[in-house]
Amino acid sequence: HAAKQRQCGSLAYNAQLDAASPASLSLLSDLRRAIDDQELRLYLQPKVELKSGRVISAEALVRWQHPSGGLVPPAQFIPFAEQTGFIRELTQWVIAEAARAWRAAADAGINLPLSINLSTRDLMDQELPGKIAALIAEFEVAPGALCLEITETAIMLDQQRARSTLQQLSSMGFKLSIDDFGTGHSSLAYLKDLPVDELKIDMSFVKAMASSRADRRIVRSTIELAHNLDLSVVAEGIETAEAWQLLAKYGCDEGQGFFVSRPMPHAQFVAWLAGWQPPALGEALPDTAFS
Ligand code: C2E
Ligand code: MG
Ligand code: MG
Ligand code: MG
Repeated sequence: HAAKQRQCGSLAYNAQLDAASPASLSLLSDLRRAIDDQELRLYLQPKVELKSGRVISAEALVRWQHPSGGLVPPAQFIPFAEQTGFIRELTQWVIAEAARAWRAAADAGINLPLSINLSTRDLMDQELPGKIAALIAEFEVAPGALCLEITETAIMLDQQRARSTLQQLSSMGFKLSIDDFGTGHSSLAYLKDLPVDELKIDMSFVKAMASSRADRRIVRSTIELAHNLDLSVVAEGIETAEAWQLLAKYGCDEGQGFFVSRPMPHAQFVAWLAGWQPPALGEALPDTAFS
């Protein structure tokens, strides 16, 4: 299984070099088939309020249950889907599936907002806002129940276009989040005028906090910056109790990570949610916490 998964991964990366190569065309037809044959899976990862440990939303993350290659992670096909334009179909599938999941949960008495990742190409698609609205209306999901995550890099690629799409989505009632913040060279002056609600600190800084004073300072100043711009701050990649504690001390609002839970299929998520107990986190922090 592992060998086939690797094979599938290298196929995706080779294909990136030449979109017209036979390998690339075969991956594209595999992806088309994946949608038709229902091989894509929407996993959910909980997002908690760091002060209380309460679960306040979940992020939808796509996987490909490949017939011979195992569970393929998005890094092995999203870049390819982006490059070939297939991402538009993929994004529509993700949105419809997230709307279906939200509706099923709501009907079972669970009212939890969902976050969805959009890609660079999605932002360039002027018809996207209308398409999303139509897809979620089918499941009677309000725009305010969805948060759309856009990476800082995608926004900076075409600032004009990104701004106009984001303004449209925001005025329709969708919540907006800047994903992987700190890796995309955006300027403060630009960010302050975007209609976003949330900023997600890139996992690389969160993971490095334990061993690097510079990274702790980057995280603290990012939290301060976000709060000064009236944005809610989410840390991704919380893998330890220490990281949670430190982020809570720094005033970070929310967090996600393997310490809370890995992403999981919808049914498993609902069961996990029913059994979730916030950990009892001690007050003691290492002396280095504020250095
Ligand atoms: P992202 O949106 O920044 O999502 C966070 C990624 O970090 C997810 O990887 C998640 O499983 C992983 N993660 C969460 N907590 C931890 C942790 O504590 N430690 C570690 N090591 N990893 C953690 P995943 O699901 O493999 O997704 C990777 C990226 O692929 C996402 O990054 C996002 O950019 C993209 N992606 C995933 N699903 C979709 C989708 O439906 N549409 C689009 N356009 N992109 C997607
Ligand atoms: Mg994300
Ligand atoms: Mg992220
Ligand atoms: Mg990331």
